[in-house]
Amino acid sequence: MSDEAYEINSKRELRCFTCKTITFHELKYIHRSRYIDDDEYDPIESIDDPSYREFRQYRLWACAGCGSGRLEIYVDEVSTSYGEEGPVQSYSFFYPNHRIGKLEERVYFDVPDGLQTIYRETINSYNAGLGLLCGIGLRSVLEGICRHLGIHVGGLEDKLESLVSEQHLTEDIVDGLYKIKIIGDSAVHELQKPKDYELKFAIAAIEELLYHLFEKTKLEDQITNLRIVRQSEFKALIARANSSRNKRNKRT
Ligand SMILES: [Zn+2]
Repeated sequence: MSDEAYEINSKRELRCFTCKTITFHELKYIHRSRYIDDDEYDPIESIDDPSYREFRQYRLWACAGCGSGRLEIYVDEVSTSYGEEGPVQSYSFFYPNHRIGKLEERVYFDVPDGLQTIYRETINSYNAGLGLLCGIGLRSVLEGICRHLGIHVGGLEDKLESLVSEQHLTEDIVDGLYKIKIIGDSAVHELQKPKDYELKFAIAAIEELLYHLFEKTKLEDQITNLRIVRQSEFKALIARANSSRNKRNKRT
């Protein structure tokens, strides 16, 4: 089927970013319009045609699996006053359009809103190729984490140490967080753009950290609400565990 032959209810295979695979998509809507790129052109006053004009179809495709939509902008004809007359080779571009190497936002439920905003903007700046802002964003996430845990005193270094002394994190983890502080500091103070791999690893670590610190209640809920058939075996096991815990506590 050639591109321009698509009509409402037509089906085609496209990548779905929700299903994370290729699925059939159904065409739900077509909006035809012109795109004009000519600062001088005025639809009422101008005598000549615009110097550059595209004829576009905006097509809304819905995934047959999950219902997510993708917008295709299909350009089928171009006319210019630069001596090139359409029709030219038609082409399409799509939204959303995740290019290879872009990161997907992680979804959190219990992470405080303000922190989620900084985190999301950090991911967006990475995906937009804004490494400097991404580095600054990562540092801001660390600052925000400390603030939400009630740690306000001192510079970032003091605050990270408080994460250990207040038993939120282990020394090993905070040692690792100093690497993120260094990435952020060099971005903030020296305007030094971090390397791509530095950002990617730092983002992955920050994502785990947010999960570990704030989504913990969810884990506890899930663990305590686990359902099993052999309840009596479970109760015996818990009784045994409690008695050995008691003995251990008496010794210390
Ligand atoms: Zn889908």
